[in-house]
Amino acid sequence: MRSSVDVDLALLGGGGAASLVLAALDRHGVRGLRVAVVDPVHRRGQDRTWAFWDRPGGDLDTLLSASWPRAEVLTPTGRRVLDLAPLRYAMLRSGPVYERAAAAERRLGATRMVTAVDAVDDDGDRVRVRTSDGRTLRAGWVLDSRPCPPARPGRTTWLQHFRGWWLEADAPVFDAGRAVLMDFRTPQPARGVSFGYVLPVSDRYALVEYTEFSPTLLTGAGYDAALAGYRDLLGLDPARLTVREVENGVIPMTDGPFVARPSPRVVRLGTAGGATRPSTGFTFSAMRRQADQIARALAAGRPPVPRPAYPRRHRWMDAVALRALDRGSVGGPQFFARLFDRNPAERVLRFLDGTTTPAEELAVMSSTRLRPMVTAAVGDAAHRLRDRLRPPRPAQPVPAPVRDGASPPERAGA
Ligand SMILES: Cc1cc2nc3c(=O)[nH]c(=O)nc-3n(C[C@H](O)[C@H](O)[C@H](O)COP(=O)(O)OP(=O)(O)OC[C@H]3O[C@@H](n4cnc5c(N)ncnc54)[C@H](O)[C@@H]3O)c2cc1C
Repeated sequence: MRSSVDVDLALLGGGGAASLVLAALDRHGVRGLRVAVVDPVHRRGQDRTWAFWDRPGGDLDTLLSASWPRAEVLTPTGRRVLDLAPLRYAMLRSGPVYERAAAAERRLGATRMVTAVDAVDDDGDRVRVRTSDGRTLRAGWVLDSRPCPPARPGRTTWLQHFRGWWLEADAPVFDAGRAVLMDFRTPQPARGVSFGYVLPVSDRYALVEYTEFSPTLLTGAGYDAALAGYRDLLGLDPARLTVREVENGVIPMTDGPFVARPSPRVVRLGTAGGATRPSTGFTFSAMRRQADQIARALAAGRPPVPRPAYPRRHRWMDAVALRALDRGSVGGPQFFARLFDRNPAERVLRFLDGTTTPAEELAVMSSTRLRPMVTAAVGDAAHRLRDRLRPPRPAQPVPAPVRDGASPPERAGA
């Protein structure tokens, strides 16, 4: 006989968003709730590194690998050292997050199902979930963070794609007191934006990444060449460096609509639920915010429905900015440099998190070049109208990251 599990809350997908929800449920003292987590992979260890900004003193402080009160933004014309106070830039590796989630799962007495979800059927009262190993799960509420493309293609569809090397140096070469947030001195692609960044955990150990915001992925050799080029630009000697780990990723950057509430008792979270900021790819802070809102709601006996990841006006501003960047009317390095040159860093960072007031947003928007933004806003409105008249088309899923050519632990220049 095939087994059936009955719970109050089912988490479909057990990655970043679900891990933060589990930790938040535990932190807010939610007990007596029957919880299940379904994922074909039981996530453990370092499969990604999250960088984000927040105020010191939060629940994640003890898990951080590093944090920096200052960060640099570099362009070919200048170097800006940003004082982030009262915020700081922080680095969190996935291992400690998954461990905390596993401990929370044990305390909550959650059921773990290591299998894929095949179908979700919400009758408005309960949700029936079928798994690929033939089991059925019934849940009062579902938090679904399985990968899912937007409901229709974006007017602009870019990807944030990157490769990073964890580099160990045989002598002090990194400044552990500051992170490089964005370094636009990298060669810029014909269509899109590229930058490097450096997140040092000590003066000998750092994550050095090459990132592109553009429509298509590079080859493995392309990422390696770009990263080697960035390492050289930093003046690092490959003979004195060892690549300890390689990190690859692809994150959607699109104004296509992610559906956060596909049915009455199903809430989508994480990238699938629209937590990825279209203009930057940053996702972590919105996932963290929503996890906290969900746990507070459940602790108070309310439905686990968070507020939208970003206000509607931010999604519109991102659509306009993405369009201006994609159509080439605004250059990426100039766009980001002007934001940081003409605003306090803290305001820009809160803007990117979607937590600024309309007055602050006006200040941020007026620091960009007006004419290309107005043109992009008009183009965006016309495109929306055309989309309404067209038959709906499905959006493509986000491609898997390119892993080939990724250097195994070895001398960085080998
Ligand atoms: C390498 C990398 C680095 C990143 N760095 C940053 C960063 O520095 N800052 C930032 O803000 N954002 C970053 N992001 C973006 C974002 O924060 C992460 O992608 C984050 O993990 C998203 O969480 P999620 O829960 O939406 O997706 P995931 O963490 O990918 O979790 C989705 C889960 O769904 C599971 N799943 C898939 N199919 C099924 C199925 N059929 N049934 C059940 N489960 C299924 C998967 O196994 C996976 O565990 C990064 C992303 C990557 C890939």
